[in-house]
Amino acid sequence: MCRACFNPLVLKSDFIEGGSRHLFGRSGVSATRRSFMAYSVAAAGAAAVVSDARAALLGEAGADVIFKGGKIIPVPGAAAQKALAIKDGRILALGSESAIDGLKSKSTRVVDLGGRVLMPGFVDPHNHTVLAALIFELLNDVGYAKFPTRGKLLNELRAIVARTPPGQWVACSNFDNLLQGGDLSREELDGISTSHPIFVWYTNGHDACVNSAALKAANIPENIGMLPGGGHFGRDEKGRLNGLVYEESALLKFALLAFPKITPQLATKAVGDYLRSVAALGNTAVHEPGTLRSEWIAPFAKYSGRAACRTSASLAYEDLKGIDPYRSLGVGAKATQLPNSLFSLYGIKIIGDGSNQTETGAQTSPYLDTDSKGSANYDAAQMRKMVAEIKAAGLPVLIHCNGDHTIDISLDAIEAAYGGSTANGVNRIEHSTMARPDQIERMKKLNVQPSFLMNHVRLYGAAYRDLIFGPERAAFTDPAGACVKAGLPFSLHTDSPCSPPGPLALVSTAVTRRCDIDGSTIGPDQAVTLDQALRAVTIDAASQIGLGDRIGSLEKGKEADLVILEADPYKTKPEKLSDIKVSETWVAGERKYGG
Ligand SMILES: [Zn+2]
Ligand SMILES: [Zn+2]
Repeated sequence: MCRACFNPLVLKSDFIEGGSRHLFGRSGVSATRRSFMAYSVAAAGAAAVVSDARAALLGEAGADVIFKGGKIIPVPGAAAQKALAIKDGRILALGSESAIDGLKSKSTRVVDLGGRVLMPGFVDPHNHTVLAALIFELLNDVGYAKFPTRGKLLNELRAIVARTPPGQWVACSNFDNLLQGGDLSREELDGISTSHPIFVWYTNGHDACVNSAALKAANIPENIGMLPGGGHFGRDEKGRLNGLVYEESALLKFALLAFPKITPQLATKAVGDYLRSVAALGNTAVHEPGTLRSEWIAPFAKYSGRAACRTSASLAYEDLKGIDPYRSLGVGAKATQLPNSLFSLYGIKIIGDGSNQTETGAQTSPYLDTDSKGSANYDAAQMRKMVAEIKAAGLPVLIHCNGDHTIDISLDAIEAAYGGSTANGVNRIEHSTMARPDQIERMKKLNVQPSFLMNHVRLYGAAYRDLIFGPERAAFTDPAGACVKAGLPFSLHTDSPCSPPGPLALVSTAVTRRCDIDGSTIGPDQAVTLDQALRAVTIDAASQIGLGDRIGSLEKGKEADLVILEADPYKTKPEKLSDIKVSETWVAGERKYGG
């Protein structure tokens, strides 16, 4: 699913006080000489801080914090260590308790792990942070994660109505028709309330369902036809409006009335709350691909140090020039770190096609029981032109490809522009859901890496098998096992808000290939080991956002981004991995969650 990649309705200017430029306030930066100078000066300052820290590593050895009394995993697959010391936000040393005790000074704080497990913090390399934050803040979440049955969903709608004064909008999001009992209807929602306008936005981003009060409040006449921009309305067998609303121009008729206005204060609060919630799931870094706008970079970076989680972004192709004010900080294989912040920039995102759940991912063979192969957003020539521009700008590219046709034209374009070079950073294929075996081999040859939305298998595996692709193709969705065989690194992501945040659920599914909906196993050949899955949410994910040299593993000199778990993943049943409680997270040597 990729509503976020495809249709960030909530980020439209109409919802944001003063327009979308000002989502995080009026300190947006533009490519002026003044801002260029300011950033050059700040960058020089940051370099000095780094070299001071390095000097400290060589000179005075006293640690700021020592962790001991538990199991310390430097990187998944490596031998466990007994103790870890950090100083000035970085890893100072790992080793035996007696060796690390030697780094203790009077001011050193000692954290007793009490048998807990400490490992590199989790990185979600594809997470639409701002969009997810606003949706969770502004709208009632009625999604599958919280309300897995139709009955529970309807009870929740009743509860929201009960606490909302009559006449006021009830705006909900994340409804999943594939997992929560099929389409809603006007009649069903009228059964919840006739005095509150109700708007339930589907998690696919393209559809919604409304009740009669909402149709009335939005002045939608019974005889309404197709709207400019393709918006349209569903009808029952008698030809009456059935409450279903399709595509943006129709959705906006309701959303503009139902969604609260977004102020900078509200946006900042929403992002803060959201980042705290993902830190509680063990994330120490999230990467936002293509929904963070360049005007928001400066205020976002300024805020980032106070957030519970390190943040990073790739800009949308349409915003390619937005990187220019930051060029003086260096662009290339490593992420562009904004000075005095926990925020960095990586590459440029292209949205190659739609979603397999709505059969809009572009395939080379038809969806099950149809003639439709979906359709790509660009043809091969357009893709080639865009990728060449990104290469010329000195940046890596991230291309959203749910279908194998889109992967074909994307790899053609990457090969033409970059050859196999990673001098600009690792080029990524986002989702790579239907990658064929030959495409995995080709990615390996071109040094292109996939990032898999592994919750596809957990949530939609049965739907892929029975409704969308048939068993054979479903068995090769999100083919992490083929990557391991080919020696191709991959990462795992949630695409939040398109699927629930939480790295351990991704890890669990990568290991078990279990679909939660019916308990079946989807493509057991594509299962990977726990080490491989954990690498895909730590070091291999960090490398895919240009931060592999700074975070993702616990090595001397790297920034101290770590997570402390209540239970050992290596001693937990794979299907129970997502039940492991996160005890603490630390970012750059500072505790951000728990404790
Ligand atoms: Zn996407
Ligand atoms: Zn996405």
